[in-house]
Amino acid sequence: MNFYVTCPWCKSQFYQPSHSNCPNCGGSLPVSDGSGAGTPPPPAPRELPKSFIRATKYYNNVNTMIGIIFTVPFFWSIIFPIIGIFLWRKGLRDAKNELDPLMEGAHIQGEVTSIYVDGSKKINGKSPRVIEFTYVVGGRPYRGDVPNLMDPIDLWKKPGDKIWVVYMRDNPEISSVWPPMK
Ligand SMILES: [Zn+2]
Repeated sequence: MNFYVTCPWCKSQFYQPSHSNCPNCGGSLPVSDGSGAGTPPPPAPRELPKSFIRATKYYNNVNTMIGIIFTVPFFWSIIFPIIGIFLWRKGLRDAKNELDPLMEGAHIQGEVTSIYVDGSKKINGKSPRVIEFTYVVGGRPYRGDVPNLMDPIDLWKKPGDKIWVVYMRDNPEISSVWPPMK
């Protein structure tokens, strides 16, 4: 099987990596050899690279980018900026819901429930993957998903695999996977 894994922190790509930390930036890489969830996240609060925060809010965020494209050049019209600002705000809200648990969240082991190709979207001509997962907090099961993944994660993750989930203590529905996937 041939695949590559993108470092979520610095975007370096590795062909079938066997290391758990990125040789370029030192950040944790998603486990791709089927050996489990990997190293647990460090305790919160966690400092994330500024470039990762910027990418999550803007360059790597489809809604924010479309929102800005609809709003800034079309400020003189009415309908495009209304749509644009709506998408822009949704993009930033989604980014906050991803970044807050990565920085502040408690961690627990969860499990991948499904991975599929989202045929309804195309990003640079390719349909992204979505990973869905479950985790239990206080005896209650929760579900989460990570959309818009461009790595072929279905080649190296499968339902039943363990992953680390970080979630907000005051609102466990808000969660992300650790390390993030791209
Ligand atoms: Zn890296």
